[in-house]
Amino acid sequence: MKKHNCDKAEADITTQGHNPYEIVKKLIKESVYSLELHENIYYMLEKPMRMLEVSIPVRMDDGNLRNFTGYRSQHIDILGPTKGGIRFHPKVNVDEVKALSIWMSLKAAIIDLPFGGGKGGVIVDPEQLSERELETLSRTFVRKLTPIIGPQKDIPAPDVNTDPEIMGWMIDEFDQLRGYNIPGMLTGKPIIIGGSLGRLEATGRGVVFTIREAAKKLGLDLTQATAAIQGFGNVGSMTAKFLYELGVKVVSVTDARGGIHNEEGLDIPDLLEFVGDKENYASDYSKANSITNEEMFGLPVDILVPAAIENQITKETAPTIQAKILAEAANGPTTPEGDKILEEKNIFVIPDILCNAGGVTVSYFEWVQNTMNYYWKEEEINQKLEEKMLFGFDKVLEMREEKKCHMRDAAYMVGINHLVKAMHARGWIKDSDLNQNPE
Ligand code: NAD
Repeated sequence: MKKHNCDKAEADITTQGHNPYEIVKKLIKESVYSLELHENIYYMLEKPMRMLEVSIPVRMDDGNLRNFTGYRSQHIDILGPTKGGIRFHPKVNVDEVKALSIWMSLKAAIIDLPFGGGKGGVIVDPEQLSERELETLSRTFVRKLTPIIGPQKDIPAPDVNTDPEIMGWMIDEFDQLRGYNIPGMLTGKPIIIGGSLGRLEATGRGVVFTIREAAKKLGLDLTQATAAIQGFGNVGSMTAKFLYELGVKVVSVTDARGGIHNEEGLDIPDLLEFVGDKENYASDYSKANSITNEEMFGLPVDILVPAAIENQITKETAPTIQAKILAEAANGPTTPEGDKILEEKNIFVIPDILCNAGGVTVSYFEWVQNTMNYYWKEEEINQKLEEKMLFGFDKVLEMREEKKCHMRDAAYMVGINHLVKAMHARGWIKDSDLNQNPE
């Protein structure tokens, strides 16, 4: 399908390689244009409202000091506190953190959550740190963020290479500083200290709800379908588990070290047990053949799920993809060149800002439970998650039909429309900003 009315915006901004911030700005600009809004709206949304850089000194086990760099970006707080994960990765950078915070705003808007977007990151390879060094880094980062975070301001959560254990250290540090327990200060924490049932599985569960809806739309019988998944961390492994439970044959999974393949379908419960709590890499599983990440993309499967890092579906990998559904469980897995190829090949893309919104949705439920100090059963949470994911999916699909555009553009338009309504209600923008060419 053709993009609606986007040519002018295309001409204005180029994506400068694969910088995710440039990519998200370009997509916002195109959507503002397609929604026939004034470019003032683009200027309101293109920058985070606040971006903090901090230094994080850590006394290493060898006695030396290392000073790490961390960031926190808060995009827009028009609907409520900003919300989003903290990533520990050597490639973290300002533009990535800004882009991730904008994606969080759009995600929350699509699902109709009372949050804005936030994101944090530290430039570090956690595999190179001892447990004590990692804990010191996590606690010191929170101390540095303390002036700008809190349950009514900005609420962190886990992301790549951060998990409930790290969230436990972080919330403990915050509580010690404030002198009392504030469970809604972050989400994705251990259940015993106020975490939500179902949060660990939430993103993968949400991904699978959207795949199920897409399959219905395409008339694909999931009990006869095959899938391949890039990444077997929290999101990839949970996506595999829930696809397997629906009867989908998951034939390949990969991770940072390599991948595995079995045409007959992998025994996902056995693989999950093998991987355990990060005791083994999925790629070391011996009951399957080896495969590279690149080969995995080209497998003749019905469903492909990138669930690892950014910029994986490129002009090199996209032409090899044979899947009918591409479910973007990771944030920003597709480059603009890759996206164009997917569109030309008529692959049904479930865009990241919809596909992986299950995580922030159950994080919202966690925050609600913390706020009212009353905790729901897991079935209740999963049912509420399903309602929210279907709500978002239907709205994006509706916009796609209305504008005759790609799912990604439709998702951006749904998110932006929602933020525009809130900006208008607060008087941040005027009636004239709602027209592309006001008199
Ligand atoms: P994770 O750290 O638990 O897992 C990441 C996985 O990706 C690991 O298996 C790792 O080995 C693999 N990986 C890393 N580099 C790779 C590469 N070059 N090729 C193949 N595999 C590679 O992280 P996660 O929480 O599962 O997050 C994965 C993605 O989902 C990220 O983009 C994250 O932003 C996004 N996301 C996560 C959540 C959440 O709730 N955890 C929510 C929304 C979006």
